[in-house]
Amino acid sequence: MKCYLEFLSVIMIGCCFMASCAGKASNSEQPVADAPENYRCFPCGLACDTILHPGPGTCNHCQMELVPASTIIHTDILPADMCSLDEERTLFLDVRTAAEFNGTAPDKFGAIRNAVNIPVQELESRIKELEKFREKDIVVYCSHSHRSPRASYMLTRHGFKKVTNMSGGMSTWKETVTDTGCNHKLYRAQ
Ligand SMILES: [Zn+2]
Ligand SMILES: [Zn+2]
Repeated sequence: MKCYLEFLSVIMIGCCFMASCAGKASNSEQPVADAPENYRCFPCGLACDTILHPGPGTCNHCQMELVPASTIIHTDILPADMCSLDEERTLFLDVRTAAEFNGTAPDKFGAIRNAVNIPVQELESRIKELEKFREKDIVVYCSHSHRSPRASYMLTRHGFKKVTNMSGGMSTWKETVTDTGCNHKLYRAQ
């Protein structure tokens, strides 16, 4: 038995040695098999967004269709970091309903000054309205960051390159943005 194992390990070492020699001799890039693509749910803003699935299908938690993880390219920003953005170069996109945006809905979380409002349900059909902002950085927000990740994903799929989702939404703004100057600059109370 011991002999057999030693024999095996000699063969294995031999194989490894030959493989590495072959690699060097050819001096060409070894075609490395692509790692299998992971899938995530079409971003819904829930905890399930971070789960990686080995293949396509549907998310058990939010029922969203899974998409290749590499296609989710928008970034995130915390409300407290919003004031470091260059306002001139940034479009703030509020994807809540018109009532939530203008403060007539029961929940009043406030809004970002000078934001453009396109409800997430209408974004696909109204995407042309954003054409003139294509060169800008777009920061997408809602109330709890459950709708804005989906909208962010949609924008990147339509070729918008600099898309950022505001984590937590306006409901977390009040708790986390304490800088008076920042509030004065960007926050519109309702
Ligand atoms: Zn999700
Ligand atoms: Zn999900």
